[in-house]
Order: sequence, then C-alpha cells, then structure tokens
Amino acid sequence: MSLGKYSKEIFEYMEEYDAEQIVFCRDKNSNLKAIIVLHDTTLGPATGGTRAWYYEREEDALVDCLRLAKGMTYKYAAAGINLGGGKAVILLEKGQKPTEAMLRALGRFVDILGGRFITGEDVGLTVGDLEYINMETDYIVGLPREYGGSGGPSPYTALGVVEGMKVCCEEVFGDPNLKGRTIAVQGVGNVGYHLVKLLKEEGAKIIATDIDENKLKRVVEEFGVDTVHPDEIYDVDCDIFSPCALGGILNDDTIPRLKCKIVAGSANNQLLEPRHGDMLHQRDILYAPDFIINAGGTIADTDELEGGFNPERAKKKVKRVAENLRLVFKISKERGIPTYKAADILAEERIRSIGAIKRIKVKPPKKVARAEM
Ligand code: NAD
Repeated sequence: MSLGKYSKEIFEYMEEYDAEQIVFCRDKNSNLKAIIVLHDTTLGPATGGTRAWYYEREEDALVDCLRLAKGMTYKYAAAGINLGGGKAVILLEKGQKPTEAMLRALGRFVDILGGRFITGEDVGLTVGDLEYINMETDYIVGLPREYGGSGGPSPYTALGVVEGMKVCCEEVFGDPNLKGRTIAVQGVGNVGYHLVKLLKEEGAKIIATDIDENKLKRVVEEFGVDTVHPDEIYDVDCDIFSPCALGGILNDDTIPRLKCKIVAGSANNQLLEPRHGDMLHQRDILYAPDFIINAGGTIADTDELEGGFNPERAKKKVKRVAENLRLVFKISKERGIPTYKAADILAEERIRSIGAIKRIKVKPPKKVARAEM
C-alpha cells in the first residue's frame, strides 16, 4: 500500500461527504490499520459493517469508507430506522486476511466510541470474524442466531424485495398481485434464491440466470424456473427485471435493451451513474431505488438492537419496505422527478424533520442542573 500524499485535506473530504467524525486506528502489535467513519448521528448511533480490503492507496480506503458510511445514513433514514450511518475499513496488505488479534483490536476501538458506532459484517469479513469483534465490544449487529442475531439478512432482503415488487405492480398495472407476472432474476445467490422461492409461492413465472451453473441448477431443480444465458437477461420480455447480482448493471448498453415495465431487485448501486436513473424515467420504466427496496436485511439485522432478535417482529418491520416505496413514488410523482432522486429526498427529509424535534431538550444541561441545586 502506498501512503503518498492525499489529493485533498481530510477536512475537505469530510465537507465533501458531510461526515461528522473520522477515527483512525492503529495497533502496532496486531498490525491493525483501520478507519472508522461516523457519517451522521442525527437519527441514532452511526451504524455500518466493517470491510476488510486491500487498497492501493490509503486515500482510496478513506474515500470508500466515507462513501459507504454516507450510503448507510440514507439507507437507515429512508427505512425509518433510528440509526445513523457509519462504516469501518480495515486496511490489509495484499493477500492478507484479518487475524483474530486485528479484529479484537478493532473491537476495542469500537468499544471506546461508547456506542456512537455500531458495526457488523461486510466484504472481507465472515460471521466468525464478527464473533472476535464481539469479544471486545457489545456494539455489534448481524450476529449468528445462537448469539442473539438474525442469522443472516438474505431471506429478509428477499421478503422486502417481494413486498416492493407488489407496490411497483400496483403503481404500474393497478394491481399488486404477482400471480402470472413474468419476472427475470439476474443472480440466484443468497438473496436471489430466497427471492425465487417466494415469487414461486406468489405464482409468478420466473426466468433466471447466474454465471454459477450450480446455483442456477439448484433453482431449476427446486422451483422449476426457466433460464437464459447471463448475457441474455436484459433482453427478456418480462414485467419485472430483478437485478440480484452486481452493481452498475443499469447503464448505456443495457437500458435500451430492457423489455420490462419495472426494475426491482436487491443489488446495491444498480445505476452505473445517477443519469441512468433519468434514462429509465424517460423510458417509462419504473425503477425501485436499490437502497429502498433492498433494506429488508438491514431492517432485520438491526432488530436485535431492540433487546434481542425477534423473527416475527422483524418480518413485520421488513414489510415497511412497501410503505417506504409508496412514499418514494408519491414524491416522484408530486415533484415530477425520477424515483432515485425521490429516494434521496425521502431520506434527507426524515433526517431534517427528526433532527429538528431533537431541539426539544428532555434533560436540563449539566450546568443548569447544578445552578438549580
Ligand atoms: P451472492 O454473492 O450470494 O449472489 C450473487 C449471485 O450473482 C451469485 O450467485 C453470482 O454467481 C451471481 N452473479 C455474479 N455476476 C453475475 C452476472 N454477471 N450475471 C448473472 N449472475 C451473476 O450475493 P447476495 O448476498 O445474494 O447479494 C446479491 C446482491 O444484493 C449484491 O449486490 C448485494 O450487495 C445486494 N444486497 C444483498 C443483501 C443481503 O441480504 N445479502 C442486502 C442488500 C443488498
């Protein structure tokens, strides 16, 4: 990793991403180098997973952490969860894996923040790694079932996507029913598998693809879906195209090929650039913004913060994805703007309005209390 000079001052970056606090952590014994970004704590503690990754430049790690933390602020705010956005990155050397000592050192740094930051699993970390962090701090979400967590977000993410698809159908066809709808699913991994299962139960017709033949075979054998080659998924004549694999798949090449009326899937960062959200709008394809429709797993994961995970309560809360999506479509129609912009507005308005009620002091400040004694 080359350290080099940053192309901008750190405070410039904080201004650009509107971040509240950055914590740089180093532990010489375990060789831990980590950055924690607390993006916005208006709604609650900054919360977001820990990513362990090799970055060519330290500055890349900082920018990644800022970008991901900001994304979490919007995701929680729009989902109606009382948490702020945060993220941690562990800067690894090439080919290195995070060690127990590194993870526990990070856990201690998280603990020092006294609950201002809550973390979980992200790219490069396993649930087992999370257990190491949990040895040093209680400020953790997304633990395995036996540790009081949800046991994995994917089934809940899939459930949220199905609820979201119903709202999309109501909007476009005037009928939320998925029975008889043709749905093209790109990627049948963790989320896609559960999604196909639920959609089959709803009576939808599925056309699926995956670059992993074994995963595709599994959904064919279990649910009897039709399949296409991965390159052909964009050309499928369908009601809903559901991206559940990669980001950036809605772009100049793919959007003109789409033959659907709705795009609704779990993948993160589906739009290659924001302008592709405008392109979909112009083509009269209803786009369910990714961070709104894929929030089910996040909603379920954070349920454990309410004194332990409760599957029934989590399922109920995940159904809120439908309400949030309705709000997005309402803003989009009222203001005549694409849905991806409406989703940002929903999040920003919630931060502003809930932030404003916090001006009502519920406890006197310490000095006033002393003066009254
Ligand atoms: P996963 O890795 O289990 O599944 C992704 C699947 O997509 C894999 O089976 C992979 O082989 C396939 N794939 C990759 N490239 C492909 C291509 N070009 N064409 C067709 N298939 C391809 O991941 P996941 O946990 O199911 O997540 C799927 C997406 O949803 C990701 O973008 C993820 O960030 C996002 N997401 C997941 C969750 C969750 O609860 N797991 C929550 C929010 C967002």
